Amino acid sequence: MARWTPEGREAPLKPVSVMWTQGVDHVEAQLVVSTVRELLQLVYTIGNQVGLALPTITIRPFGTWYIPSVPEGTPYWGTRWYVDTSFDAARQQVIGARFLDLVRNEPWQKSSPHWDVAVIDWDLVDQARAPADESRQPFVLGMTVPELGTVLSVHRLRGLVRAEHRELALRRLVLQEFGQVLGLPSRSRQSGIELAEGRRFCTNRCVLRPATTVAQLVRVAEQERSDSVMLCEQCRRDVVEMILMRGRSPN
Ligand SMILES: [Zn+2]
Repeated sequence: MARWTPEGREAPLKPVSVMWTQGVDHVEAQLVVSTVRELLQLVYTIGNQVGLALPTITIRPFGTWYIPSVPEGTPYWGTRWYVDTSFDAARQQVIGARFLDLVRNEPWQKSSPHWDVAVIDWDLVDQARAPADESRQPFVLGMTVPELGTVLSVHRLRGLVRAEHRELALRRLVLQEFGQVLGLPSRSRQSGIELAEGRRFCTNRCVLRPATTVAQLVRVAEQERSDSVMLCEQCRRDVVEMILMRGRSPN
């Protein structure tokens, strides 16, 4: 079996740090962590099927954290600082683009590159918006910068009455957003691609299909469950390409 060698190469997978705000409950947090693990396990399986053994990566569930030695409220003091700094008080929403900028500029993102998954219980919107933008959907369920990280919100999912639906929707949201963190669908792919809100999605029956409302999340999650589908064939090929390309890049 071919083995990925670390020397002079970018790792095909990075450690994953997971944080969540204090209002995110135990069941939600645990589901996010287990779903990230589930998708990574599929990536390993796909790699193994084509003879690529990947180094083990770690998932670090930091939860709601703060650094005791740093004064409260100073940059990168803790989870709450990310939320406070990216919060729009008038809209009562976290601005996803601001949040992910903070993630991008984390001091420890440079010292030890990793992927970030952040779960918030506040409502989320992608960009700060002028009143003229009101025709656009006034919220997002998640926002992702490929190869960097994702912020996703449980706020609207909690409106679902049935616990089964809440879990299905959250799991599906994590798969869609974390799949994009991994770089799916591939930037080089020409077919089976749909652009929605400036993001690349897959058009096949697959967790990389866009679902931007709570109702859509539940509907596609139920379809994919009854079809036993997670990643489509094209996205599986993208996973192989991703492993090979990153393994070969000189950085
Ligand atoms: Zn796909």
